[in-house]
Amino acid sequence: MDIGHWTLDSEQFALQFRPQMSEPKPKLAPPFGDMNKEDFRRFGHELIDWVADYLERVEDLPVLAQIEPGDLQAQLPSTPPEKGEAMEAIIKDLDRLIVPALTHWSHPSFFAYFATSTSAPGIFGELLTAAFDNKSMLWRTSPASTELEEVTLDWLRQMMGLDAGLTGMIYDTASVSSMHAIAAAREGVELRIREEGMSGRKDLPLLRVYISEQAHSSIEKGVITLGLGQRALRKIPTDAEFCMDTKALAEAIEEDKQNGNVPFCVVATVGTTSTSSIDPVPEIVPICEKHSLWLHVDAAYAGSAAVVPELRNILAGCERADSVAVNPHKWLFTPFDLSVLYCRHMDLLRRAFSLVPEYLRTPEQEKVRSGSDYGVQLGRRFRALKLWMVIRYFGHEGLAARIREHCRLARLFASWVDADADWEMMAPVPLALVCFRACPQLSGVDAAAREGRLNVLNEAIMHGVNATGKALLSHTKLNDKLTLRLSVGNIRTEERHLQQVWHLLNEQLKLLKA
Ligand code: PLP
Repeated sequence: MDIGHWTLDSEQFALQFRPQMSEPKPKLAPPFGDMNKEDFRRFGHELIDWVADYLERVEDLPVLAQIEPGDLQAQLPSTPPEKGEAMEAIIKDLDRLIVPALTHWSHPSFFAYFATSTSAPGIFGELLTAAFDNKSMLWRTSPASTELEEVTLDWLRQMMGLDAGLTGMIYDTASVSSMHAIAAAREGVELRIREEGMSGRKDLPLLRVYISEQAHSSIEKGVITLGLGQRALRKIPTDAEFCMDTKALAEAIEEDKQNGNVPFCVVATVGTTSTSSIDPVPEIVPICEKHSLWLHVDAAYAGSAAVVPELRNILAGCERADSVAVNPHKWLFTPFDLSVLYCRHMDLLRRAFSLVPEYLRTPEQEKVRSGSDYGVQLGRRFRALKLWMVIRYFGHEGLAARIREHCRLARLFASWVDADADWEMMAPVPLALVCFRACPQLSGVDAAAREGRLNVLNEAIMHGVNATGKALLSHTKLNDKLTLRLSVGNIRTEERHLQQVWHLLNEQLKLLKA
């Protein structure tokens, strides 16, 4: 067929002009087996294009889902489809139903909680993990997953400047990583809790875990899950900068011991959730060593920052910690979920969790590491792949440069706050989280009522900014003062996004003051 200077064979012609000739027949599942390979290629390409477009246009979408509870459910059938549906229809519903119900964590003006983001190599890693669908419970069920995990986590350990005595294991979240650390610590107490449990035992004293008042709630949940009870948790006050008061820690341990309780674990936080404050691990270490307590460091957020050479000192003291949790899914551009527990006593972790029934025995089991020996889960996702791809694609320098830039952007924003009499900083900015609030003159409000009014004002400012859909902030309370949190952590965030949110905040303040 000759069309001007092109020559097309009939198949090319059909491909080129199909949309104009007629709509293709919807593609349904075959009677048996999976989607045929032509359809897989077609929809696979289409979906990669869809994702590329999504990441390009996400900035134009409202960051916070603009729907009411139940809106999406009301649009979905309450019963499953009897017959398979066409992929075309399913893909269309991504735009029609799913996207409007998303809060867009990939939006560059997502500054709430801890801002995080995926990245292209991370997305490809997830795609491949789904394709391989390995359950890495034993070495032989996924040698690649097992061995890549060991190598990749050792790379990450080196990048973070942690010592070679720490061995990494991947879990889904920091909540689970920390819970496993506390379980290993408890196993080390030699109270036969694995064998005999904790209930109905008159011989068991009150076991104690120490955290600061600023520690993440996941530690308390871990303590509850392990059957230790909330009573086991002792919350230590913090200083003016929200860091654990080590004198109070030492006194609490002494007091507990005098009362016949058994302290066994201290959880220090490097990068607390409210303010990113850093507990003084080097001072906590000797206290733990004196009393033979397990020191777990929750560096879920801030640990990633240690890949920046000049920030490495945030993990000072970890060379004498028993375990450290860090979340590449928070600040290492790796899609959720991937948390790492670095542990110095893999024997205790294994003792706490290994249970190998006959049907899982393998000839090589003494020579290899099997993930299921080190945790609650049997099957484990092949998560190392995405981290391996992220580290290889960006390199240590590339990752450090991005985190360094986030810290610069946070400091820049903090400088605007500092320079404006209507705003004030509420905590130091060691990394890329800014805690601040509006503090304008309020005419006719006495000192006693002022704090309450500022709380209401700041909450209203936050909701006002969030309602614009152009940026998302979250809050915390520091010394009973409602505090706005702005976290920079998205790979696509630039200075102009900070300028925009600063403008939005001031617009809201003006509006609410009027
Ligand atoms: N620890 C800290 C310090 C955190 O900030 C968070 C979450 O923000 C967690 C633990 C819990 O993380 P995950 O969602 O991975 O369980």
